[in-house]
Amino acid sequence: MCSQYDSPVLALTANYGQRAASREIDAARKLCEYYGVRHEVIEIPWLGKLGGNALTDSGKAMPHLEPHQLDQASVTQETAKAVWVPNRNGVLINIAAAYAEATEAHQVVVGFNREEAATFPDNSSEFLRRSSEALILSTRIGVRVYSYTDRLDKIQIVGTLRKLEKSFPFDLVWSCYEGGAEPCGKCESCRRLKRAVSA
Ligand SMILES: [Zn+2]
Repeated sequence: MCSQYDSPVLALTANYGQRAASREIDAARKLCEYYGVRHEVIEIPWLGKLGGNALTDSGKAMPHLEPHQLDQASVTQETAKAVWVPNRNGVLINIAAAYAEATEAHQVVVGFNREEAATFPDNSSEFLRRSSEALILSTRIGVRVYSYTDRLDKIQIVGTLRKLEKSFPFDLVWSCYEGGAEPCGKCESCRRLKRAVSA
């Protein structure tokens, strides 16, 4: 989250019992150390316990995609359904907005992208706009939700990053849905990251 002058005051990572929680937390912590941003982990185990999806339920198979399937809506609609965590981004934005209000940060910044918004409506610009409208009423200081990347696909995001920062530490990023020692290379998230950094 950011102050109204855009300087980041706190980064939040959620542990909701997802397979990759420890890897995501580790990656976020290292990136925050690299950029000198304060970092906290929010524990919300009840969200994972709701189950019913491959991210938090180890009994459900994680969908694997071939690279040519990334833009096939009939495939990605199904994979999105398999990893859908009930109201996850809605919950996370509201938690972050509570932190923002308590610290007078004014802005919650999320990393949405146009590519995944095609199958995840809670990744879309429309969701950002409507969330901000709700937060105007549910926070005293009118916290807003903002994303620098919601109009970009992942190839554009990586391209912009490379222009802004010549030596961005891609080795600190964890994108895999799985929590293994190395990224699995086969889940949708691995495939999308690989396509973006290979472009
Ligand atoms: Zn993966």
